Amino acid sequence: MVIIITKIICEIERVSLETEYFDGTIHKIDGVRATCSKCGHQTESYGTGTKSVNRCLVLMNRECECSENNFYVSDSQDATW
Ligand SMILES: [Zn+2]
Repeated sequence: MVIIITKIICEIERVSLETEYFDGTIHKIDGVRATCSKCGHQTESYGTGTKSVNRCLVLMNRECECSENNFYVSDSQDATW
């Protein structure tokens, strides 16, 4: 049996995420958002480094319905975040 693994490109963009503190105040935090190029599923994570991008891709593997026999790569692997 041959399993073909395909790459799915995720578009990565910088976003400003809102987070609610326990005291009820809203704070804006820089983050990144990945969008699955196949179905449009989005994941977000705080921070703007490569680690944050990778976290988005891991979340994508977990949440996105296209993840079977696929793995996700960012559209800007060489970008400095
Ligand atoms: Zn998808």
